[in-house]
Amino acid sequence: MYVHKLSPEKIKALKEQIEGLSSQILLIAVSKRESAESIKIANEMGFKHFAESRLQEALTKQNSLKDLDLIWHFIGKLQTNKLKQILLNFSYIHSADSLEILIKLNQLTEELNLKTKNKILLQVKLAVDDNKTGFSETDLLNSLTIINELNNLNIIGLMTILPFGLSQAENYELFCKLKTLKEKINSKKLFNLNLTELSMGMSGDYPEAIKAGSTMLRLGRAIFLS
Ligand SMILES: *Cc1c(COP(=O)(O)O)cnc(C)c1O
Repeated sequence: MYVHKLSPEKIKALKEQIEGLSSQILLIAVSKRESAESIKIANEMGFKHFAESRLQEALTKQNSLKDLDLIWHFIGKLQTNKLKQILLNFSYIHSADSLEILIKLNQLTEELNLKTKNKILLQVKLAVDDNKTGFSETDLLNSLTIINELNNLNIIGLMTILPFGLSQAENYELFCKLKTLKEKINSKKLFNLNLTELSMGMSGDYPEAIKAGSTMLRLGRAIFLS
């Protein structure tokens, strides 16, 4: 890991571009592979939300940054044996990708009895992609009744990662599909599933994600490689 020289001019231009496209969007700096020092610099430039995908790497950085007022998001593959540590150290979990994981999260949330519940997003796989996990649309819709009964969980929205190499039009279409899925779930009026968030958009596809209604962007390279 090395310290990137974040460029204040590029960050400013990025923020202005995003604000021009949407007035209400949470900008999350994906700091996986970045040093604690880079995170500190990004924080000085106004970033408060940071996302990590590996628990051990994240805990080391969180420990050296504990004096700063940062909000942590977990975006990596969830492993059952690490869920407790993830619940204890991250405010948001974007990558709940199976019923099994949700059931375990629900159980641990009850056991831990935290003052503030973690905010959970359901990861959805919208297109065939061997490298990515997530609920298929059908699986998710078929699981809603069970998910709704996991009432220790604070499920706030849906998250997706698109496959690489699609056109902008294809990206936009898939992001719109996630928004439609969110509306479909909300229309069922399940008491534990009133979703407000769409975590979609990375460095390569964020303009299309914003146009399709994203509420949370997860940007790594666009911030740290500027
Ligand atoms: C790495 C990563 C990102 C950020 O990707 P960039 O292309 O660097 O913006 C966003 N979301 C997830 C889940 C990631 O793993």
